[in-house]
Amino acid sequence: MGNYGKDAQWYVFIHRNKSTTIMNNEHIISVENVTKRFPMGGDREFTALKNINLKFGKGEFAGLVGPSGSGKTTLLNIIGSLDSPTEGKAIVMGNRISELSHKASARLRNMHLGFIFQVYNLLPVYTVFENVEFPLLLQNRSTAERKKAVMEALEWVGLQDMADKKPAKLSGGEGQRVAIARAMVKRPEIVLADEPTANLDAKNAHAVMKTMKELNRELETTFLFATHDEKVMSYLDRKIRLVDGEVAKDERMGGRSR
Ligand code: ADP
Ligand code: MG
Repeated sequence: MGNYGKDAQWYVFIHRNKSTTIMNNEHIISVENVTKRFPMGGDREFTALKNINLKFGKGEFAGLVGPSGSGKTTLLNIIGSLDSPTEGKAIVMGNRISELSHKASARLRNMHLGFIFQVYNLLPVYTVFENVEFPLLLQNRSTAERKKAVMEALEWVGLQDMADKKPAKLSGGEGQRVAIARAMVKRPEIVLADEPTANLDAKNAHAVMKTMKELNRELETTFLFATHDEKVMSYLDRKIRLVDGEVAKDERMGGRSR
């Protein structure tokens, strides 16, 4: 069946038009001995991640925290199959991602991963509805199914009345809510959010964090953040502090067990 680690209880069986998730608790994401070096010209290179080992259970609300340049985005991109490690492996839902074909990793992203970035990247000529619908068009869902899912996702973020608006009419907070709805509309198992509050004022930052926390509780979506925003950190159940590409601290906040 492929490239799953010996302790992976997750396996997404990815083939042609189907993607079947076999789940059995435990680690939905596993990062094993991951090192990332970037070539710097000549024979110089920069080591952005040094032998990272981390495991995440289903339903975690966790964050990679640490100063700018500590490797947060690099690690999030490796987990999201947007980049590959120089050494080691990332196993996402049972799939060793750097060994997936181009098509299979696209399928993993389309079906199972949601992405939220600092910049919302909404398509300006499309309405809010169409922006949120976009990931579902990649999944060949019927019009009726898409409409239901989009309106539900807009309800989750409190924007059901904005469906026909263009992104230019939205405030920053509303724009990021649309981006959250777009990430959640396919009900992904995992959402990766890179500095999602960086362009928001405090009030909107708290509001989007509360929304994501609710979705985490209600849908059991696993959230992994990369952030240096204290406001985001105050919502996390688990904080992994990166310093110079190494895990300096991995702490779980009170209350929630792994
Ligand atoms: P963070 O998200 O914590 O701010 P990054 O993961 O973006 O940090 O970057 C970690 C380090 O790796 C930084 O010093 C950055 O300059 C370097 N880096 C990131 N991407 C590249 C790249 N494509 N080429 C060279 N260096 C990079
Ligand atoms: Mg970053």
